[in-house]
Amino acid sequence: MSKKKALTVRVLLSEQEIANRVAKLGQEITEKYADLGEPLILIGILKGSVIFLSDLCRAISLPVELEFMGVSSYGDETESSGVVQITQDLTRPIKGRHIILVEDIVDTGLTAKYLLKHFRSSEPASVAMCALLEKPGKSQGHILIDFLGFSIPDDFVVGYGLDFAGLYRNLPHVGIVETAD
Ligand code: 5GP
Repeated sequence: MSKKKALTVRVLLSEQEIANRVAKLGQEITEKYADLGEPLILIGILKGSVIFLSDLCRAISLPVELEFMGVSSYGDETESSGVVQITQDLTRPIKGRHIILVEDIVDTGLTAKYLLKHFRSSEPASVAMCALLEKPGKSQGHILIDFLGFSIPDDFVVGYGLDFAGLYRNLPHVGIVETAD
């Protein structure tokens, strides 16, 4: 048997709580963009936002297009490096389009700040930000989150797309990783 301490995940947000909130976010987005007259572009940040984005887009009753962006800022560490590198770019132009950046979690806000600036340089018609989670105490510089799921304490969380060393993304809930004795 390995002497490594086992990790347990304490539930912070249940599957049902997340489903209810995502449904509300979908309604909010539907209402805000009801008169758009053209498809909205949802841009998910790989890989953490994939589960959230796939539920969110089905809660929006409007035509949407999906785009993905790969960024690397964390590696397997649990603290933000502050360095954001684009590892996969968009597949179509966003100039003149209405876009929503969809993030799993805003921690220091460095990733979102970098991406919003990057997107704005392509002159979209409008840019909005949607995040499932935010750790309010940590934000470096003001990031306006137009559509927010939950504010959470400053703990490292996993599940519903969020990983620890590549694992736990498939948990249906969001939880805090703890070491069991
Ligand atoms: P920020 O640039 O806002 O500090 O970090 C944003 C990115 O860091 C998120 O998209 C996510 O990949 C990662 N991150 C920040 N906090 C957590 C956390 O509690 N759990 C996990 N799994 N990733 C996090």
